[in-house]
Amino acid sequence: MASDVQRRATLFKFQQHIATEEETVRNVVIVNLKHHRMQLPREVIVGNGVIDRVSEITRRLGFSRSALIVAGSNTNDIAGKYVRELLEKDGMSVDTLLVESATVKDVQCVEDKIRVSKPEIVFGVGGGTKIDVAKCSSGRSEIPFISVPTTASHDGIASPVSSVRGFEKPYSIMAQAPLAIIADTNIILRAPWRFAVSGYEDVIAKFTAVKDWKLAYEEKKEYYGGYAASLALMSAKYAMQNVQLMNEGNEDGLRILIEALISCGVSMSIAGSSRPCSGSEHLFGHALEMVKPNHAMHGERCGVGTIMMAYLHGANWKRIKEAIQKLGAPTNAHELGVEREDIITALELAAKMRPERFTILNKLSLDRKAYEHLAEVTEVV
Ligand SMILES: [Zn+2]
Repeated sequence: MASDVQRRATLFKFQQHIATEEETVRNVVIVNLKHHRMQLPREVIVGNGVIDRVSEITRRLGFSRSALIVAGSNTNDIAGKYVRELLEKDGMSVDTLLVESATVKDVQCVEDKIRVSKPEIVFGVGGGTKIDVAKCSSGRSEIPFISVPTTASHDGIASPVSSVRGFEKPYSIMAQAPLAIIADTNIILRAPWRFAVSGYEDVIAKFTAVKDWKLAYEEKKEYYGGYAASLALMSAKYAMQNVQLMNEGNEDGLRILIEALISCGVSMSIAGSSRPCSGSEHLFGHALEMVKPNHAMHGERCGVGTIMMAYLHGANWKRIKEAIQKLGAPTNAHELGVEREDIITALELAAKMRPERFTILNKLSLDRKAYEHLAEVTEVV
């Protein structure tokens, strides 16, 4: 990176050019501006029965010939087959590919299918994994994708990032933003309520994610987008204020949750990274999944992480814990189905997991004893 002296010298040279040649002004502007790309969804449709509008939306977006549906066997029965029927009725040629996990192999399998059948558009129909695979494979194949969530268990339904196992990184990677999101509350309400609760916790996690992002800006001069951060934070605040609506089967609560998850997804699109939505609490969540796989849902792990990271940030961790308790979600190791040792190991691992993502864990650089104290004082162990 150029030093300040070098930069000033370059600027001085440019200023001399400006004085003599007007054309150079344009070059100066280009040289000094960093490119920032925001890829946003074009259509977001939320509500009871909106799946019936899938053909109309697809056509309006300019696709009328061919589509590929990526779904799981279960989510294909719930919504995939119906989406296919509606598109075919409208004269489109539609293929379906079933995937059961989100690994590099699944992504490659969908990419192969895209290469052969050359669809105009890819639909991801399902919860986390199916949408992740559809998003990642379509992005890498440079084909747009439409998100049709059947659960609201995390912000991946609307975000430009994908969580796929088998790439060199154990966390989310940039893929592409969905061109449209069709979130039918009638379908999402039929999923187990635990999924929605997990999604709610993924929204609450933005409290500490935004704090970590700001910290990285203050300490490491990392790019910080105030607008993206505010949007993520507003979603978390709104979710906390309406936690009493999150009762099983309450459509108003579910609608708030879906809108909050979509806003979080959009905040990542604006930021150009997962920064506004994923901080130290997510690092803990990812680490715990590595230490003890398949013991809890994404939002549940991140929710417990948010309690502990809020404590480290000096924020009101008790309020966060109370909100999670109101949701009936786990707030400690026992409820998560893990051991005390798993929590401490995950905390140690979280701090080392992603060196380029500066968080409160890097700033404090705690030892094992301090992590034990953190887990004890927040009553996680
Ligand atoms: Zn998340």
